[in-house]
Amino acid sequence: MFNNLLCMINRHRPTRNKVRHRGNTYTSVCRYCHHEIERRRAKVWVRRKDLP
Ligand SMILES: [Zn+2]
Repeated sequence: MFNNLLCMINRHRPTRNKVRHRGNTYTSVCRYCHHEIERRRAKVWVRRKDLP
């Protein structure tokens, strides 16, 4: 599951071909842990369920 250290600190890497523009942000799926993620700011992706 968490085979990448970044995922454990809630910093994920998007799957490039699953990036979607949604409103004023971007969503994707983490290429390592396969959770749904959302871009907070440039190069910072967090899990969607952890967003406020
Ligand atoms: Zn991840």
